[in-house]
Parts: sequence; structure tokens; C-alpha cells
Amino acid sequence: MKTKKSGVLFKSALSLIPGGVNSPVRAFKSVGGTPLFMKRAKGAVVEDVDGNQLLDYVLSWGPMILGHAPPSVLKAITGAIKQGTSFGAPCEGEVELAKLIVQSVPSMEQVRLVNSGTEAVMSAIRLARGYAKRDAILKFEGCYHGHADHLLVKAGSGVATLGIPDSPGVPESFARQTLTAPYNNFKATEKLIHKHAQNLAAIIVEPVAGNMGVVLPHEEFLPWLRMITKKYEILLIFDEVITGFRVHLGGAQARFNVQPDLTCLGKIIGGGLPIGAYGGKKEIMQMVAPAGPVYQAGTLSGNPVAVAAGIETIRQLKKPGVYKELEQKSQQLAEGLGDAAKKSGIPYFQTRVGSMLGGFFTEGPVTDYESAKKSDTARYAKFFHRMLERGTYFAPSQFEAAFLSTTHTRSQIRQTISAACDVFASL
Ligand SMILES: *Cc1c(COP(=O)(O)O)cnc(C)c1O
Repeated sequence: MKTKKSGVLFKSALSLIPGGVNSPVRAFKSVGGTPLFMKRAKGAVVEDVDGNQLLDYVLSWGPMILGHAPPSVLKAITGAIKQGTSFGAPCEGEVELAKLIVQSVPSMEQVRLVNSGTEAVMSAIRLARGYAKRDAILKFEGCYHGHADHLLVKAGSGVATLGIPDSPGVPESFARQTLTAPYNNFKATEKLIHKHAQNLAAIIVEPVAGNMGVVLPHEEFLPWLRMITKKYEILLIFDEVITGFRVHLGGAQARFNVQPDLTCLGKIIGGGLPIGAYGGKKEIMQMVAPAGPVYQAGTLSGNPVAVAAGIETIRQLKKPGVYKELEQKSQQLAEGLGDAAKKSGIPYFQTRVGSMLGGFFTEGPVTDYESAKKSDTARYAKFFHRMLERGTYFAPSQFEAAFLSTTHTRSQIRQTISAACDVFASL
């Protein structure tokens, strides 16, 4: 495949931008080769600057659940832009998006809009600490919660891909306030809670882990976390930046019927524009300024263009049958990939919740970061490049999810499966 123009652009980017990219995983470090510079996208297909048309299972890392450039969302965005792009004052759209979020996500009674998932999690943690009047938090190894200082501890994907265990620049005194336990590990978690209960403000978890590849919560894990955090009066925070409006209209908390105290959102709720949100019980949210003393603010927060994109995206997702169809098509893809792997005899452990798919090159089972890391990443790199040559764009890292959109057709999925059959046989 032609990559000449991407190569030229990357070279010039390397001289101007650290590593040539504005977010590390885009650099193809873990699979090798030159990152593709994208030019345009429509539906399930992205086109790069060299004219390669690729069936896209990255979907901007999750937000594009309606596919790229959905007409009704474009219309909402252009309509909003014509009215002005930022006021720094309240606007009608903010209230509408807040209403859609509160109506959809079971545990959210109030919500504050911010500009990214990172900001949402950062603010939710501050709020949890302010509310609980305690400093420590507990996170799970391999879960990524954005790049705020106290969360860059055993943080999965980008960090895992690059092999940076913890980032320089994060003060040890911050990191010390972050306890980590293996995902799905009841015993280690309970031990830490027991030992630190007096100082533990919150436990934060990806209810389906999506940043060490896709790792499913043990059937009892989320209900148990709810039970034990209640018992010790520790807040439970679900980071649903990926899973929100992805695995269910109401997020993982609706799918698994477990209600956290606070929820973080991002990605899908901005319909492809920058956004984030955090919210939860009114009693807790009333602590946020100006209602309460926990400070948090943003010049562009509740941006009228971003909220217009989010509102229209959620309206489309609320139409009957959307999630059912996504589920069926995702199942079709997962089964096809699984069969292709089986025929080739290559160890391949699959995971899936709704339209969020994982596939590890290992016997499995993959239940936490340790077992995820057993995956043969060199083999994944080959898989990635050979699929790319066949016009299919999976994530350039073993430790990222594959996503489906409503625009992926059954015939496109069949093409992917057929390509995967060739590729698995060649591995
Ligand atoms: C993407 C992601 C974030 C960070 O969101 P940004 O918008 O990239 O800052 C946080 N948590 C999870 C689970 C994510 O997948």
C-alpha cells in the first residue's frame, strides 16, 4: 500500500511535534511502521492522504459510534456553528445534553460538562476527595483514566504500549496517594481497603476495562465493589469514558445493573468533538462550585458546538433497535475472527461486551493486566500490518479495543472476516 505522503508528513511532524503525534498511541510504536495521516472519513471508512480507503475499527478510539460524519450530526454541528462557536456563558444546548445524560445513565442525577475524559476523571477524583475528606484513591492495574498525575500509575495502553511504567514528572508524593490492585482481584482489593479504609476516598474502575485490551469484569466483581465500598463508606467511581453510551445507552452500569456514586463520561457524548462529563448523586454533585466548595471550571466547557454534536448523537442512539443491531453485528465479527483463529491453530483469546471487542494472542484466560501482557505483541504487529494491507484498520496496539459503528455493514464485516482468515493462516 502507498504511504508516501504519510511518510513525508510524519517526517515533518517529527521535527515539530514530540514523536510526531499529539497522542502517543497514534505513533505506531508498538506495531512499527509509519502512522497513516487521515484525510477524510465517511461511515465505516477512513481515507488517508495517500488515498488508501480503510475499513475502520478504531473509530477515533470510540467516539464515532454512528460512523464518521453522520449526516444528522453534521447538520447539528453546522447549525450550531452558525450561531457562534463559544459564549463563555450558559447556553440552551448544555441543559439539553445534561438532561439526555441524566435520563440515560441510571446513577447520574446531576452532571458537569468539561472538555475531555482526562478532565472529567481528574475533577471527579477531586470531588470524591473533597466529599469524603480523605486523600487516597484505589485504581486497578491496566486501567487508564486519562493522564492526570495521580492516575498515571500502572495505567495500561498508551503507557503499556510504550513500556513506561510510571511517567517522570509525576511527584512520588502524588503517586503514593494512589493504591493499585489487579483487576478482578477480590482478595488484593479487600486487603488494601482493609488496610487503608481510614484514608481511602474512592475506588475508581473501568467497569469494562478497555485500555489493556478489552478485559471483562468477573460476574461478581462490580456488585462486590459496590457492596464493599458501601460497607467502608468509600465512593465508587465508574470511569465510563469508553463504555458510556457504548455498551448500553445507560453505560456499563445499566448493562450490569450496578450503580456507582460518580460516573465519568467522554468520547461518545461529544459526537466526535472534544468533551467530557462527570456526575452522580445530587448530594455529592452539590459540592461542586459554585453550588459548593470544590473548585472546577472551564473556559470552553459546555461548548455549544460540542454539545450540539453530543445531543444529536444521543438522540440517534435512543432510536429503538440501535444497540440490538450493534450487538448482532459485533457478534458476527467476533465469531468470524474466532473461527479464523481456530482454523489457523493460533492461540487467540477473545473478549467482547456489545460493540467493544478484544482479541489477545495468547491462550488466556485474560482477566487482568498480568494475563493481558502474556499476549504475543509481535504477532499482533504482524496481524495489524497484514490486515492493513487488506484495507482494514484495527488499533495499532494489542492493548486497545476494536469498535463497531452503526454504519458497519454485514458485508463489510464479512470482508474483514475473509481478510482475517488469510492473515491468521499467514501468521
Ligand atoms: C479515553 C479515556 C480517558 C481519557 O479521555 P481523554 O478524552 O482522552 O482525555 C479516560 N478514561 C478512559 C476509560 C478512557 O478510555
